[in-house]
Amino acid sequence: MRAYRAVGGKPPFIARGEGAWVWDVDGTRYLDLVCSWGPLILGHRPPSVVEALRRQLEKGWTYGAPTEGEVRLAAMVCERMPSIEMLRLVSSGTEAAMSAVRLARAVTGRPKLLKFAGGYHGHADSLLVDAGSGVATLGIPATPGVTAGTSQDTLVARFNSLADVEMALAQWPGQVAAVIVEPVAGNMGVVPPEPGFLEGLRRLTRDEGSLLIFDEVITGFRLARGGAQELYGVAPDLTCLGKVLGGGLPIGAYGGRRDIMEQVAPAGPVYQAGTLSGNPLAVAAGLATLEALDAAGYQQLEQAGDRAASAIRTAATAADVAVTVNRVGSMLTPFFTSHPVRDYDTAKRADAAQFGSWFRRLRQNGVLLPPSQFEASFVSTAHDEEALAFFETRLAGSFDDLTVGSTASQTTAKSIASA
Ligand SMILES: *Cc1c(COP(=O)(O)O)cnc(C)c1O
Repeated sequence: MRAYRAVGGKPPFIARGEGAWVWDVDGTRYLDLVCSWGPLILGHRPPSVVEALRRQLEKGWTYGAPTEGEVRLAAMVCERMPSIEMLRLVSSGTEAAMSAVRLARAVTGRPKLLKFAGGYHGHADSLLVDAGSGVATLGIPATPGVTAGTSQDTLVARFNSLADVEMALAQWPGQVAAVIVEPVAGNMGVVPPEPGFLEGLRRLTRDEGSLLIFDEVITGFRLARGGAQELYGVAPDLTCLGKVLGGGLPIGAYGGRRDIMEQVAPAGPVYQAGTLSGNPLAVAAGLATLEALDAAGYQQLEQAGDRAASAIRTAATAADVAVTVNRVGSMLTPFFTSHPVRDYDTAKRADAAQFGSWFRRLRQNGVLLPPSQFEASFVSTAHDEEALAFFETRLAGSFDDLTVGSTASQTTAKSIASA
């Protein structure tokens, strides 16, 4: 994902970051819209997080025993997301999603899982089918190493299509343990849920006796204090968290209804454990990050996201280039297409080669985006007036005379289109 295969060129090696900016090893400064792929909601090195990490370093960084910090973080999550009555801290989003799926299968006694094309839930075997993120960027249709048996237990529907979900559930009555969804898709590029989609998933899963899992690894604490489930008012049975939860240190969590979570060992029989789970450094960074995110912070994120999206639209319109900017709060993707993007198929219609060309131009202009048409760009609370004004300046003319660049990016665009 960090390689530049899809956009051409070689990735800069980063030497340091501060606020909304990063510097590479040659001393070139860039405005950072990658934000470590989502975790850095306060930007690089926010003072309160630096201080929290420093304090924890003085006391050691892992004990293999309970700490007060992890309980405080868990309580903070439960308070922000009322659907989470009990939770388990893990070390990554992959681990969170993988564990939530195992738990769903165990409590329902059902084998199958329904996901959405272009949805990414980490790299556990059963979740790689038709996956987004790097799998989409590289145009990998199916991943070697995943057995046919595993793939067969994963059903795939189109994002925003309740009809697909209804059909799959009707085809496999009593077989589907869970529907797992990014409530706002972020790994096929940003695709918001259409009105009624999440509510419909809630109703269909409840009627079928399947669990609804929200993968809020990106959206949790980013779109609102209580994540996408607060923003859209839909409560899942289980939630997966990561990224912002650790403020840029490795962490993840899964949690939800108490009766379900009580099935996790040692309270129940479903085994899951991790040597570094609830790591004190990650917990310290997470606590400091969540504490810093007040109402004013979310307002600032919304305004920064809106300004960044508007600036892209203005620059594209001036150059007469068709771009559809999808945005929810501080996550956004400019798709190089004139069509609305509402699922993976419509996302793939975007011109990835043109994106690559624009990406290289912006990089030259001192702006770093995620190196793929199928990823979300992020702004943080550190994306202040100076950063946003810089972005606007550097966008000017960036869409003019976009040549469809290197052979490498053309090949990748073709393989994505055919995937
Ligand atoms: C990043 C991501 C994951 C995986 O998290 P890792 O920490 O990279 O393992 C899972 N789900 C979603 C929605 C993600 O964006």
